[in-house]
Amino acid sequence: MIHRVTLIRGDGTGPELVEATRRVLEAAAATAGSTFEWDVVDAGVDIMETAGTPLPDNVLESIRKNKVALKGPITTPIGTGFRSVNVALRKELDLYACIRPCKTYRGVRSRYENIDIVIVRENTEDLYAGVEYDLGSPEARQIIQMAGGKIREDAAISIKPISVTGTRRIVKKAFDYAVENNRKKVTAVCKANIMKYTDGLFYRVAREVAEEYRDRGIEYDEWLVDAMCMQLVQKPENYDVLVMPNLYGDILSDLGAGLVGGLGVAPGANIGDDCALFEATHGSAPKYTGQNKVNPTALILSGMLMLRYLKEKEAADRLEQAVADVIAEGKYVTYDLKPDRNDPTAVGTSQMADAIIARLQA
Ligand code: NAD
Repeated sequence: MIHRVTLIRGDGTGPELVEATRRVLEAAAATAGSTFEWDVVDAGVDIMETAGTPLPDNVLESIRKNKVALKGPITTPIGTGFRSVNVALRKELDLYACIRPCKTYRGVRSRYENIDIVIVRENTEDLYAGVEYDLGSPEARQIIQMAGGKIREDAAISIKPISVTGTRRIVKKAFDYAVENNRKKVTAVCKANIMKYTDGLFYRVAREVAEEYRDRGIEYDEWLVDAMCMQLVQKPENYDVLVMPNLYGDILSDLGAGLVGGLGVAPGANIGDDCALFEATHGSAPKYTGQNKVNPTALILSGMLMLRYLKEKEAADRLEQAVADVIAEGKYVTYDLKPDRNDPTAVGTSQMADAIIARLQA
């Protein structure tokens, strides 16, 4: 099978991470007789000067055509007037589901063992919808008046929209993910005891969707977000797939990455109905640009999620095992996976990729 995939190199350490990941994915696909045809495009601060924008049209066109993209991290320039390319891509392509598996691999230093949870975060609504009114603006004054004494006169205001449509599709995505990946339980996370209309709606719709999946053998339960944080720190092994609105998802995704050993090993997928974009949770780590130093695991595991999305299950399983073996052996790993970060035996980004490829070909 030939897979045509858009490859966005990103900036900062992005290009070196993408190159390492591309080589590993080609080796993994080859074990199942498949190949990739990469449509390489550029976005980010490095091309801003020549292209006049950090997100040229050809990037979106390529993803719309190929439906699948792998992306290196992209810096959000501060004070240039350009918005975040990462947010723009999710918006333009309606990638409404952010899926973050948080799994412990032996050899990654972490306080916990045997964690295997998946956070499914709604990506388009909630306090991130961008509906904000500044202190003293006519809109803020109008809302303050409407609220009849519940909001102070000197408040700025952010609106939190949660819709039936947005909730239904994200909860369905979580259940579909559970069915396709042999998961047993979906937990909806909210604060419906306080936000009775918005988060109340989220739970109500989530229950309706859960009912539709009842005969597929997926259990459903609910936790308030504050209690969920404590549960995840105390008994993470009790949880499986967690689905939630945007803000809680943002916070719990980082909590999840922290449970399994940090950003260097946390993969991610942004999925819509038409397209999917796979990227690491971490950013462009600009201080290490061009040093062949940072850990490629998060992007390689994002590529593993992409292989699953492309129905290359065998190749994905082999790749995940190869990554797990290299990390467990602890020899050909980057500095952040060594017990001492100054360990001179740490290898670079591309050498860690070589070690994973060697495992795949063994
Ligand atoms: P960052 O994730 O780039 O770095 C945070 C810390 O983690 C740093 O100490 C860095 O050295 C370390 N780190 C990150 N990735 C690593 C890796 N693969 N291996 C080893 N160590 C790693 O976060 P930041 O410094 O806050 O952000 C830098 C830029 O990236 C910002 O412009 C931010 O907006 C952007 N960003 C982009 C994305 C994305 O592309 N999706 C996500 C987050 C941040």
